[in-house]
Amino acid sequence: MSFADATDAACTKCKFFDNHTAMAEAGEGLCRFNPPVSQPSAEAHGLWPVVSSQDWCGHFSQDAMRSGVAD
Ligand code: SF4
Repeated sequence: MSFADATDAACTKCKFFDNHTAMAEAGEGLCRFNPPVSQPSAEAHGLWPVVSSQDWCGHFSQDAMRSGVAD
């Protein structure tokens, strides 16, 4: 059994998942665990990693789950 199976881990259940309005219909959002990644130029904005609602990573834990937000 994998970690994802054992914990039902998914980005959408993680407190670091930002269900960005413009991305919600695509089932994607932004991961806010780390600061934005490097920007392409000094004038550009930093980039938040885009994750699928069903992605997960090792930073997810049951303690990081938000109550009432699970799909
Ligand atoms: S990538 Fe990891 S830390 Fe980021 S939202 Fe998904 S489970 Fe949470």
